[in-house]
Amino acid sequence: MGSTNLFTVCSRDRHARTGLLKVPRHGQQLPAVVTPILFPVVNLMTGTTPRGGGIWKYVLRSLFQQHSPMMTQALQFLDFSLTGPQLQRWVNNPQGSVLDTYMRHYGDEHPDLGIAHFLGPVFLDSGGFKFLGNNRLDLTKYGVPSGKIAWEGIMAIQDGIGGDIYVSLDYPLKPGLVDEEAVELIDLSLANAWAALGRLSARPGPRAPFFAPCHGRTYDEMRTTVMRFFEGAASAGLGTTGLGIGIGSLVPLRTVRKFDAMLGIIEGARDGIPATLREAVPLHVFGVTGNMIPILAYLGVDTFDSSSYIQNARTLEYYHPERHVRVPFMEMEANELPCICPHCLKWQSYGQMHAIMMGSDSSGAVRSEVYAALALHNLYWDNQLVAETQAAIKSGAMLDFLVDFGKVVPTIRPALDILAKSSSMLDVLLSRQYYAMGLRKRLGDELTLPDGPIDLISYNPGPPPWVAAPVGRPAAPNTTEERRISLKYTPDSFVVPPGWMPNREKDILLVLPCSDVKPYRLSRSQQSVMTYLGERLASVSRIQKITLSGLYGPVPLEFEHEEAVMCYDFRLTPADEAQTQLCVMRLVDFLRKHESHFALMVGYVTSRAYREVMTRAALQVPQFQVLPGSLVKQAMTELYRREHLDGLASLIEAEVRELDRHITGSITA
Ligand SMILES: [Zn+2]
Repeated sequence: MGSTNLFTVCSRDRHARTGLLKVPRHGQQLPAVVTPILFPVVNLMTGTTPRGGGIWKYVLRSLFQQHSPMMTQALQFLDFSLTGPQLQRWVNNPQGSVLDTYMRHYGDEHPDLGIAHFLGPVFLDSGGFKFLGNNRLDLTKYGVPSGKIAWEGIMAIQDGIGGDIYVSLDYPLKPGLVDEEAVELIDLSLANAWAALGRLSARPGPRAPFFAPCHGRTYDEMRTTVMRFFEGAASAGLGTTGLGIGIGSLVPLRTVRKFDAMLGIIEGARDGIPATLREAVPLHVFGVTGNMIPILAYLGVDTFDSSSYIQNARTLEYYHPERHVRVPFMEMEANELPCICPHCLKWQSYGQMHAIMMGSDSSGAVRSEVYAALALHNLYWDNQLVAETQAAIKSGAMLDFLVDFGKVVPTIRPALDILAKSSSMLDVLLSRQYYAMGLRKRLGDELTLPDGPIDLISYNPGPPPWVAAPVGRPAAPNTTEERRISLKYTPDSFVVPPGWMPNREKDILLVLPCSDVKPYRLSRSQQSVMTYLGERLASVSRIQKITLSGLYGPVPLEFEHEEAVMCYDFRLTPADEAQTQLCVMRLVDFLRKHESHFALMVGYVTSRAYREVMTRAALQVPQFQVLPGSLVKQAMTELYRREHLDGLASLIEAEVRELDRHITGSITA
């Protein structure tokens, strides 16, 4: 076949290494890229044309102009409410793939920049993480069959997108998943990987590069999974050219900062690759980057992907290049200019960017351009960190680099301490560092970590930092770690018992969306809302709180500890019409049954899928009101916005005053 190696190692420092990734496209080699490397996650099907909308229009243009590597995933259309036919028009376009469409579009726009021959390698993730928390996701209307052959539908979409590196459909594991279900999902992901690799092998010409997404909960389990992948591929005669390993299921661990588990799993994947192939098989980590980049590289990770650059930009969070933290962009001084990246320098000042955000700028620039600039700025600094990591590996200075980095970024110190357990050299260097910083009185003392600044790569960003302080950020309790979860629960596993009646004292019904954390009332979102109301309202004890579960519909407070409510794991998505309808029906039944009991029935919801359910229910039960009345964007973070919480409190306050006036009136009459 005369194929070039996908990956070759160039230099090495302990397990860390630099290398060259050579990706073919249509039988030709793209220019090799140096690893470690970051693939920014992009969405290409944000509307029905490549002209795209909002932030993506500007972000994509810039990335295409830079011939940047990119990662995109097959299920991206779920985030943009594309219909089945709209998706089909994108991926079955007789004029070429989605990528071709973009090359033509930007090539026409800037004939001088060579974008018509875009050279950045495109990584095609399966989007399997969309099944995390929603294993009932029905994608048949998008041409993705259910069950064991779903991978075929995913691959067809990947073909239609037209990238270079394939990843088969996989099923990430959530911490706490019951053992037998975790094992089942690991096996299912492996079976998909072999099947997809077989399909790619059967195609004419050299096989496209393929990263097998592997999952495991511990070092041993991950190592075994990776070994099994290679054994299975060998026994099916699938060869080893162009293969990589992708490490999945780390994002939930990252969110709860289980660094020891994360690092062990990465080492397990690395050690599971047959010794003869280690120099030729690149290792990818899905969805974890930012300040973790040097640590991941130290463990031997070659490629990363990240969507946090854009997620942070959406909440106007700006990476401060000197302080290594995210700062609220709108709180930066207008004349402050800490950044020299091209995306910041194109503006006169931050003052101008602020003015655009406030609608008081006359240059004709739009808000999306500012959001995009923040995203590209954030990405620029992620890439800088990757470049510094490369340089440290090449010069054999990884340990010093890690220690220095830990000095400016305290949030990675717990991870460094874990690494130090298996490297006496690192341990000594760190101890010296801590000693010098006064964090330890003398070597060997227990380390107490200061409260670090905002973490750069939180995947669960919580309320944006500029949200009014009184709401607070109650830490999510660690219940997710110990809680056992299972995917076997169905909508029938819990329904409100027919005999249930609201408490006589409670005449205000408040419906809140469900949360990952169980019991719901301990979740950050519900705690924030209830704490806020508690501080604002004397009448908070009159509120009957109901949770809208995406799986079960309404769940009254007193059932939050039932096993079916504690252990299910499901998040409603906007595309899940059947489940949306079920929730609407159950909510409407509930509201109709109890409407005579309540003086006020209100839902408070900002995320799209749950808002859809409540809004549809309100059409059938007009007494039910949905707040906030209008939203700039439908996102969880909006839930914490002070003006929205104030609106809810005012509505309840006004209703209570009205009620009390009636009662007092009728007594005195
Ligand atoms: Zn910048």
